[in-house]
Amino acid sequence: MREQMDAVATARDTKYFTERYGLSPADADHDLLLRMIEDMFFDGLVTEVEPFPETDREFGKLLDILRPLSADELRQKLVISGWLLEPYGPDRMRCQECMYYLVHRRWCDLPELNLPAKPDWWCRLWRI
Ligand code: SF4
Repeated sequence: MREQMDAVATARDTKYFTERYGLSPADADHDLLLRMIEDMFFDGLVTEVEPFPETDREFGKLLDILRPLSADELRQKLVISGWLLEPYGPDRMRCQECMYYLVHRRWCDLPELNLPAKPDWWCRLWRI
């Protein structure tokens, strides 16, 4: 039942992106993916910023949830990773200092995310 509901949500999202941008996230280039991400936040997307994974086990659990998601499940990826379009916390953590960030490509290289990101963005999988 859960799998059927997920499949329906994914199909709805793929249709939403295709109608709005002419392409789904799986076929979008870097700039279009950035636009899709920003538009979702401007439209009110709320992500699961807490709890921050303090241990390897908690971190691994989040990766286990993200791993099966397809490229078109962009919304779910952002929600589960706790993605934000701004630095986070008193230390102002951000992608720029994260070990997964490819500065020159402006890309998050964590395989379970594999998405473009701006230096001042952040998600709860942040690591140094
Ligand atoms: S893991 Fe999160 S904080 Fe690190 S580069 Fe990717 S999106 Fe940014």
